[in-house]
Amino acid sequence: MDQPDQSTTTETVIRTVVLELETSASKIAQVQKGIKEFQSMASYMADLIVTVPESDWQPQNNTLYRMVTREFDDRLVKATTAREAAQHVAEAFSSWQSRGKQGKRPKFGNGTYLLLSHQDFDIEQNNGKYGLKARFIPHNGIWFGINDSPYSRDFLKRVCDSSDDATTGSCELHLADDGSLQAHLVIKWDVEVIEPNTADSTLGVDLGENVIYAVALIDSGEIADIQLESGKEFRHYRERLKKKRSHLMERGDLRGVRKCRNEHERYTEQVLDTASREIAELAKENQAVIALEDLTHYRTTAADPIHDWPYAALQEKIAYKATAEGIPVETIDPRGTSITCRKCGQTNREYRDGADFECFRCGYEVHADVNAAINLATRLEDIVLNDRR
Ligand SMILES: [Zn+2]
Repeated sequence: MDQPDQSTTTETVIRTVVLELETSASKIAQVQKGIKEFQSMASYMADLIVTVPESDWQPQNNTLYRMVTREFDDRLVKATTAREAAQHVAEAFSSWQSRGKQGKRPKFGNGTYLLLSHQDFDIEQNNGKYGLKARFIPHNGIWFGINDSPYSRDFLKRVCDSSDDATTGSCELHLADDGSLQAHLVIKWDVEVIEPNTADSTLGVDLGENVIYAVALIDSGEIADIQLESGKEFRHYRERLKKKRSHLMERGDLRGVRKCRNEHERYTEQVLDTASREIAELAKENQAVIALEDLTHYRTTAADPIHDWPYAALQEKIAYKATAEGIPVETIDPRGTSITCRKCGQTNREYRDGADFECFRCGYEVHADVNAAINLATRLEDIVLNDRR
């Protein structure tokens, strides 16, 4: 697909990253006080806002904010935190109004969070460790170490890198019943998104039953790359955990069951993270549009239903990572892709036998999931080329 020059449009990617924060009893006490006051302010604001004309239900309306600071004149939190509370409530009310006041009136006061304004927090790196400095109390910044994960570390690294254009938006501190504290941090950056009809190539992604993924990179009808990630170990370990879990269930060991379930989730998450990252990176390197199967169709027509194999979760992760890099993701009707010979185009159910594909007409032999991935990529390339004409 080498005729047109690739063209792009600039789009802003917005992501909310959940960060686990390290705490101490004294820090929790401060946060608790802050949340209590923030919630009281929001509750007061919600009672007040219904007494002013609806045209004044604007988040940027400073009159509302001044009403809050007047009421809470000996407050513990900063004025900027009061402003966040007023804006937060005004936003909820104006969006309720724009929906024709359908549903219940927004309620405030019982939440377990507070909002930090943009200027009231920093993400910093200290001796290789990331932390959040929150300043909702006047003259008193509170430092929280961040228990980062590979996932959040990527974002934190970007935010702390001055040469990176990723910036932070708002931040919410959430305190759970068990005393654990999370920051919900909004991060934004601009990406150059490829116009699909000017892409260099297409990347077909088949999520098979024998593989975690099979991908095929197609450029002008030619295969430029094939990658296959076996699902054997993944399947095996998941099944082992499942067996263990039902065994523990029989013994009534609920704690063990929960531990087993968590392990299962963590393991799955980790495998899917790696797989989706590999696919998004391959697409990025080649400036390829990604072709994913339309699973809604697959679900209703597949002879073998999708058990608990996490197809949808993996697709979501691929789309999430790819769009963050400006790689477009298209959903393709997969009908026939697994039983059609990618070489001669003949379709026959008999050609596919588990992981093997063999065309009786032209003799082409290949891994069945690779054949499907090539067909998906080719199908998308046809759509893209048609679009171009
Ligand atoms: Zn054939």
